[in-house]
Order: sequence, then structure tokens, then C-alpha cells
Amino acid sequence: MAALGASNVLITATDMASYLTDWRKRYIGQARAVLRPGSTEEVAEAVRIAARHDVALVPQGGNTGLSGGATPDESGTQAVLSLGRLRAVRSIDPANNTITVEAGCILAEVQDAARAAGRLFPLSLAAEGSCTIGGNLATNAGGTAVLCYGTTRELCLGLEVVTPAGEIWNGLRGLRKDNTGYDLRDLFIGAEGTLGVITAAVMKLYPQPAAQVTALAAVSSPHAALKLLELAQGAAGPLLTGFELMSDFCLELVRRHFPQMRYPFAQRYPQVVLLELSDNESEAHARGLFEGMMETAFDDGLVLDAVVAESLTASRAFWDLREHIPLAQAEEGLNIKHDIAVPISRIGHFIDYTDALIAAAAPGARMVVFGHLGDGNLHYNVQTPEGGDARAFLNRYQEQLNRLVYDSVVAHHGSISAEHGLGRLKIEDNARTKSAVELGLMRTLKQALDPHGRMNPGKVIGGVR
Ligand SMILES: Cc1cc2nc3c(=O)[nH]c(=O)nc-3n(C[C@H](O)[C@H](O)[C@H](O)COP(=O)(O)OP(=O)(O)OC[C@H]3O[C@@H](n4cnc5c(N)ncnc54)[C@H](O)[C@@H]3O)c2cc1C
Repeated sequence: MAALGASNVLITATDMASYLTDWRKRYIGQARAVLRPGSTEEVAEAVRIAARHDVALVPQGGNTGLSGGATPDESGTQAVLSLGRLRAVRSIDPANNTITVEAGCILAEVQDAARAAGRLFPLSLAAEGSCTIGGNLATNAGGTAVLCYGTTRELCLGLEVVTPAGEIWNGLRGLRKDNTGYDLRDLFIGAEGTLGVITAAVMKLYPQPAAQVTALAAVSSPHAALKLLELAQGAAGPLLTGFELMSDFCLELVRRHFPQMRYPFAQRYPQVVLLELSDNESEAHARGLFEGMMETAFDDGLVLDAVVAESLTASRAFWDLREHIPLAQAEEGLNIKHDIAVPISRIGHFIDYTDALIAAAAPGARMVVFGHLGDGNLHYNVQTPEGGDARAFLNRYQEQLNRLVYDSVVAHHGSISAEHGLGRLKIEDNARTKSAVELGLMRTLKQALDPHGRMNPGKVIGGVR
């Protein structure tokens, strides 16, 4: 307690409550304590003290993860290590296009700091007001601009990490080229806190776009959406920064549960694509490009209708429609979620094939399919039949449908977790769908870096201490 200050070691049930359950309320854990260090040195000290007492640590950032990775188990023997007090923007180097931030910085604050320096930090996701850059790195978060800028991994140049032994590795190098041996940085990114604690990072910045055009385009099917993606990438290349797919049923749920939100078309269409172009030249250039693209799309019969945002507010409203889908789904009731990726070329077939399997296995199940089509990443979710008992449906079908979807993902050479990680939720499905060689290599790494299994045990590759 003395090392962190008594007020930064929480031990009562009331003080710890918000740290012990995940965002989806799927898991409710117990803990000996919640530790809230305020610096990298204090993180290292906390890790060393925990090691001396053989206490396992569960790193936690904004606690917005969707796979239960930041929640301790039910034993009450683990401690949560919250990074929330490591909140400093250490430096910005506009000439090097980098920002060095501490792990507990909220994503929106990193975006703001970059903007204040005349730069863009492009990572963006609906939880950006609460999630932390450390959590984004630990889960290799994706979000809405991966199409152009890549995942969090691709946005990171260097890390500072506290190892399971309590040593500090300073790898805060802002280099685009550095071929000096094994890439340690890439080991910790996406490891969900199982190999060490990320305490700071050097992230890439980009020029602020001069103009953005956001539009909604109605199409007849995911196949047509894919053709539109090909056309848009051909016409706009790297200026295409967003390409999101939303089925009519997704938008119907938003209309049903958030009637105050404006649906901009006069009629319903099978699928709607949200496109965003970011242009370094001018608004006129961006609009010219977009209009040319849409003309071809209409001529080719790809697009049934389109509406362009005429203001920042309208653009925000389009994104709001997209971002309200998970919220509308939650309002509709319990559901089964899958965050999957398949090669972009196979998405159309994946949806047709898997929809048919689900319809046969669970008659009446309603598919809620939306996501980052430009990245090959779908939120392929299943909602209970209209008016059905959601709990009974999940009890009966969840396991069967998970297996069915993940088998289909594997058959389409995809991934069972595109951007939400494995956490605690998908350990068994991962073990079932990965090769013995791959799992063996992962276990070897874990054993080498964390031989006592004290870093976030029971997550990613499972195993109890
Ligand atoms: C409404 C909503 C929308 C979302 N949209 C997206 C989306 O579009 N794309 C996407 O990828 N995700 C999305 N997410 C999921 C979530 O926001 C991301 O996974 C985010 O990166 C988690 O950050 P966090 O700080 O909340 O991490 P936490 O939830 O606190 O932790 C997540 C994992 O990282 C580990 N961890 C956290 N901090 C550290 C650290 N400093 N060092 C080591 N390990 C650490 C934890 O142990 C845990 O395993 C969404 C979540 C919500 C609630």
C-alpha cells in the first residue's frame, strides 16, 4: 500500500465494483485489490510486489473490451492493475509525425492532442470516449479507419512495457525502420495483457485531411456492396477511409429503438453502405471524385439510391446510425455476437452460406449483419426470433450457432476474432480452430515471458495457475 499510496489500493467491494465486471456484463469477477499506480515506476513496483506474494495481475484500461479480457476470475485471488492514472501525453513530434502517450490516455484525448498539433490520429471507434490507448494496443483494436490506416498495431512505432518480472523495457522508438532483431513490440500488441503491461507508446500521426465526404449508398446485396468497394478503391485509392455495411434489419432495429434518429432514404433497401472519402486537396476535389464514382456506380446498376452529407452534422448523423446498431441490438434483447474476418473476396459467399446454415439450424433467427466491409470484418450477430424468449433461445442455440459460424469462418480461411480479441470468451473456440503448431508456439512464448503465469492468467490461451 505504501508504494502506491493507500488511496490507490482499493479493497472494499464498493470501491472495486466497477473494475470487476466487463462492459457486456457477461463476467463478474472477484479481486483481492485494485491497484492504481500513477507512473511506469509504480507499475513496475506493483508487479514486483505482486510477484513476491505470488498474486496474478489483470491489467485494465477503460474496461470497454468485449471479450472479458480485463475482468479478474471468480477466485478472489487476483488483483486488477488499472492503468487509468497513467494519463500523460509525453511528447508530440509533428516533424516525425509521432505522439508519445501513456497507456491510460483515453483514445479521444490522443485524437484531440494530435488535432491540436495540426495532425490526425486516425484510430476511431465507438468506445473512444472511454477506451485507453493501452487497451487499444493490448487488443490490437480496429475501428472505422483500418481500410486506410491499418489496425492499432500498424499505428504503433514503439512501446514501453513492464515485464512480468517487474523490469521496465523502454522501446519508445519513433522509427519507421528498425531491423535489429526480434520485434518485441509486436509481441505485446494484441497479447491482451498476458505477456506484460504496456505503460506508454509512440504512435503514428498523419496530416489532417482538408475535406471529408460522407455518404450513404443503398445496394441490393453484400455482393453489390463488394463491387461498389472495388469501384470506390479503384477511383479513390487511399482516399477511401471508410466503407461500412449495414443490412436493412440493422437499420430497422435502430429505427425501432431510436426513433428520433433520421433515416435519410424515402424507402427501405436491402443493404446500405456508409462511405467516407478523406481528401488532402479540397472539398470540391473530394466531391468531384465522389460524384464521378457514384455516376459510374449508378450506370453499372450497383447503387439503387445515394445521399451525401451536406454538413458535419449530417456526416455525424450517418456515423451515428452505424454506431447505434449495437445499442439497438442490446435494446432488442439478448443476442449472439460474432466478430469475424474473412478475405474480402469471400464475404459474399460467407454470408449466403452461413445465413442458410443458421436458418436451417434455428428457424426464425434474425441475422444482424454489419461491419467494416472494407476490412473483411463483419459483426455477424444472431437475434432471437421475433417475440421469442431470448434466454431460452440462447440456452438452446448459442453453442451450436457459435460452432456453426466459426466452422464456416475456418472454411472461408478467416479469423474467429477480427478486432475484439479472445479474452476469456473465445479461448475454446480458438483452441479448436487453430493448428497444434500455432497453439504450441503461443504457449512457448507465454512460458518464456511469463514462466509463473502471473500476467492475466486464463485469457487468450487459457490455462489456470
Ligand atoms: C460501444 C463499443 C464499441 C466498440 N467498437 C470497437 C471497434 O469498432 N473496434 C474494436 O477493435 N473494438 C471495439 N470495441 C472494443 C473495445 O473498445 C476495444 O477492445 C478497446 O481497444 C479496449 O480498450 P480498453 O482500454 O477499454 O481496454 P480494457 O477493456 O480495459 O482491456 C482490454 C484487454 O487489454 C488488456 N489491457 C488493457 N490495458 C492494458 C495495458 N496497458 N497493458 C497490457 N494489457 C492491457 C486487458 O487486460 C484486456 O485483456 C468497442 C467497445 C464498445 C463498448
